[in-house]
Amino acid sequence: MTAQLINGKEVSLKIQDRIRKQVAERQTKGLRQPGLAVILVGDDPASAVYVRNKNIACEKVGFASFSHILPASTSEEELLSLVNELNNNPAVDGILVQLPLPKHINGQKVIETIRPDKDVDGFHPYNVGRLAVKMPLLRPCTPKGVMTLLEEYGIEVKGKNVTIVGQSNIVGRPQALEMLMQRGTVTICHTATRDLPAEVNRADIIVAAVGRPNCIKGEWIKEGAVVIDVGINRLENGKLCGDVEFDVAKERAAYITPVPGGVGPMTIATLLENTLQAAQLHDKAA
Ligand code: NAP
Repeated sequence: MTAQLINGKEVSLKIQDRIRKQVAERQTKGLRQPGLAVILVGDDPASAVYVRNKNIACEKVGFASFSHILPASTSEEELLSLVNELNNNPAVDGILVQLPLPKHINGQKVIETIRPDKDVDGFHPYNVGRLAVKMPLLRPCTPKGVMTLLEEYGIEVKGKNVTIVGQSNIVGRPQALEMLMQRGTVTICHTATRDLPAEVNRADIIVAAVGRPNCIKGEWIKEGAVVIDVGINRLENGKLCGDVEFDVAKERAAYITPVPGGVGPMTIATLLENTLQAAQLHDKAA
């Protein structure tokens, strides 16, 4: 079997197009442009690229974007004060603080300072908690983007064995909640998992979110499984790759996401979706 590639780039463009139309419709109804504020602290080059891409994506769909590029020496107090200012700014529907933050700043404290209805990353415990009790509001972008991809390709989760490798707050854990909400039978693996190959092998759907190139071996994949590779790793030759041994896995899987061009583009598209959703919440509250 050679797997069908899941084209995240194509799906993300479709979503962006839909959002652009919805923003134009809002304007004809006299509603505000949705606004996204992005804060970057420090000069990490990868983070700077992510922030630039988010600004470009905002402009393309007609959002107002507000960039705050702060030096690495910014104190926690200064950052919290900026977040509070944005919390109170009615032109801002979503606030995103690019992670990782410099070590002297408590990232969790910053996340918890963002107003939950402006938490478009979906990392605030309020939003994670709502997902846990099957009442999602703003959902973490990458796991939600994965669910959108599955839906677009007509892949049902209900009743399937789903193995998620990785249990981070931003991917693995919320991904498990998303899969559970669709009534998948979910297993979460991490570094203490005893027999990772066996856990992967009994999965109908595998989500890899580890951050180690090729750590999920192709031969572990069950014939006909769906493989979603969230990992983004840069090799010494400069090329990007995922966590799954792609060339072998694609000969066993029914569907597989490539890296790049799979899950990656969905994260930004979902951030835009969440920002539009936040604007709609704010319309109702106004
Ligand atoms: P993270 O916080 O470092 O978490 C990695 C997880 O993998 C941890 O739960 C860890 O287990 C587990 N793990 C590490 N080595 C393992 C092994 N040998 N066997 C089993 N589990 C193992 O990473 P993250 O932030 O979730 O990111 C994961 C990957 O996704 C990275 O490559 C990142 O760049 C990528 N990512 C992509 C997107 C996107 O837009 N596509 C978005 C976010 C992240 P323990 O908990 O036991 O330590």
